[in-house]
Amino acid sequence: MTATTTARLMDGTGPARRLLDETAARAAALTRRTGVAPCLATVLVGSDPASVTYVRMKQRRCAQAGIESRHVGLPAQTTTAELVAVLRELSQDPGVHGILLQHPAGPHIDERAAFEAIAPHKDVDGVTTHSFGAMAFGGPGFASCTPGGIMRLLDAYDVELAGKHAVVVGRSAILGKPVGMLLLARDATVTYCHSRTAGLSAHLRSADVVVAAVGRPRLIHGDDIAPGAVVVDAGYNAGNVGDVDFDSAVRRARLITPVPGGVGPMTIAVLLAQTVQAAEGQLAG
Ligand code: NAP
Repeated sequence: MTATTTARLMDGTGPARRLLDETAARAAALTRRTGVAPCLATVLVGSDPASVTYVRMKQRRCAQAGIESRHVGLPAQTTTAELVAVLRELSQDPGVHGILLQHPAGPHIDERAAFEAIAPHKDVDGVTTHSFGAMAFGGPGFASCTPGGIMRLLDAYDVELAGKHAVVVGRSAILGKPVGMLLLARDATVTYCHSRTAGLSAHLRSADVVVAAVGRPRLIHGDDIAPGAVVVDAGYNAGNVGDVDFDSAVRRARLITPVPGGVGPMTIAVLLAQTVQAAEGQLAG
């Protein structure tokens, strides 16, 4: 019989709970000091069941952390111009400190135009070009929440990044691209892979750290993982399945995130922390 080792789990629920507790304490202190509670506006176009669930989950977590939420539900046939007008109005409303436009907004919406209508100081989901630029140049601004959560998770498990080879699979504006920039800022050597990448497995096998951000169930198999690598699976597909084949990857990796319970809880915790930070900035002075 051959001995098999299994990876240690990078559970996100513990670090997320600690960040939420810290955030709740900051929200309470701000409310005591200013008489105003931090407020997150959630904007949802249409009624896609998964999006409705995500928004509800965010509102529930807000309530638990002492953050008010204001929901704006718009009909599925809302135009880009109408959505932009709503986001501009929220951007100017002093009672709203953070704005979240639930993605995807719908195939007929120019989502980039909608995101850009969010004022950078209220862009707590880190989706505007301004936020991306600030993050890429290491300036002040809000990181996209899932990448920010991934970095906090890696830090919570003391994963060394300087000089390590990080392979990011996926290059979306909200996830793949920004997480690669944040890894680069921590002195990792970063390779981006995407749908046109040739020889994905060879790239993956040379990685010390793998970040899967694809949206294809079990695309990455244990054979693609170098023994002792760190595997972060941000993928979330139907049936609670990630982008990594957990059962085979867990035998190769040193550390691996579960799905669910890995990256997901960190994303919401970062959203709430950034909402309180935005409110602190807007209510200062
Ligand atoms: P997306 O916008 O659809 O981007 C997917 C990326 O994967 C694209 O860059 C695409 O390449 C690449 N890709 C597609 N097929 C590939 C293949 N066979 N090999 C290599 N790369 C491939 O998705 P996203 O919004 O970034 O989300 C990715 C996943 O993360 C989804 O499962 C989503 O549910 C999950 N997610 C989780 C959280 C969380 O909080 N846990 C938050 C956000 C997203 P091209 O650019 O060439 O098309």
